[in-house]
Amino acid sequence: MELLAQRILNLSESETLAMTRRCRELAAEGINVINLSIGEPDFNTPEHIKEAAIKAIHENRTHYPPVPGYLELRKAICYKLKRDNNLDYTPEQIVVSTGAKHSIANAIISLVNEGEEVILPAPYWVSYKEMVKLARGVAVFIPARVENDFKITAEQLEAAITLKTKVILYSSPCNPTGSVYSREELQGLAEVIARHPNIFVISDEIYELINFDCHHESIAQFDFIRDQVILINGVSKGFAMTGWRLGYMAAPLKVAKACDKLQGQFTSATCSISQYAAIEAMMTDPDKSTEIREMIFTFRKRRNKMLEMLQTVPGFITNVPKGAFYYFPDVTYYYGKRKGDTVISNACDLANYLLESANVAVVPGDAFGNPDCIRISYATSMELLTVAVERIKKALADLQ
Ligand code: PMP
Repeated sequence: MELLAQRILNLSESETLAMTRRCRELAAEGINVINLSIGEPDFNTPEHIKEAAIKAIHENRTHYPPVPGYLELRKAICYKLKRDNNLDYTPEQIVVSTGAKHSIANAIISLVNEGEEVILPAPYWVSYKEMVKLARGVAVFIPARVENDFKITAEQLEAAITLKTKVILYSSPCNPTGSVYSREELQGLAEVIARHPNIFVISDEIYELINFDCHHESIAQFDFIRDQVILINGVSKGFAMTGWRLGYMAAPLKVAKACDKLQGQFTSATCSISQYAAIEAMMTDPDKSTEIREMIFTFRKRRNKMLEMLQTVPGFITNVPKGAFYYFPDVTYYYGKRKGDTVISNACDLANYLLESANVAVVPGDAFGNPDCIRISYATSMELLTVAVERIKKALADLQ
């Protein structure tokens, strides 16, 4: 008899984390794998942020914090939202959680009833679909194609909305495509959302700072839907703080209170030391921080170099990512090709082939809602990226 609950049996393992684990296993066997499945900056947390955490430890900030986060941190988040995004929030509207992932889960669990629909523009970030499943909601996908820079239009959104729609959830900058919605595009989506006052939009802005060509725009800027927007952000990507596990939401008061209640029963607040580090991060103006500017500069250089290199790979079709640190090329060109007994029938086969033959790990696109693409992360050194693309080209050239 199966002892585990159905809800956990229905849940899929995170494919990005599974690939990371597979890489570790191969590395333990002594195989030189280049891991391009990574979802975190290859930079360290800035010194002054670490210092703030060390100080917090010495000052014994080691007791339970308030469930939605220290007031000082929530004020610092409001300050950041005003400084960087010109958004007005009060600390009561902020809930700090154990990563942006947790903030999104809190929002979905607080909003979605069984059978209600959550619209996910596809490609989407892996965990969205599984979180919706856990909440017993129904994920509804709007396909966005590479020709359209993997972005949906207002018309597509309108057409996807039904009486059961509760939430639309997307990331910009997007994981896995690097697409970034412009102010005009967001306004188009906001006007649709405004016509449906019972729908919420969860705007995942965790890659806000890793944005190369334009200023970050949040859908929360449109006052006419402010009561419908749940803004998600955190410190993981922009401040190279993935391990600190700290994210937050800025939400209508009712939603913030619901998430506070939920978190009160599940996790209490996130780590007190991480919260003190996050205060320091929030008070840091990214435009004036040498560490942050250097990190973004490096990512931009890699984005450009990777584009040059990927354009020399026969058959890869890609958009030009404007943010985050991923490419998401369409690889259908290789379908039907083979080497010996190995036949490539889909992007998953291709990812496995690249792992086995090129010892390069990428993530197959099905996990992100597009089974014809693979996700290639460039959150690693230029040297490794160059070797990786060479290896990929060589392995692909062996396919007939
Ligand atoms: N949203 C997106 C789009 C992400 O890519 C990630 C991390 N891979 C997260 C949320 C989760 O961020 P955190 O580490 O703050 O939980």
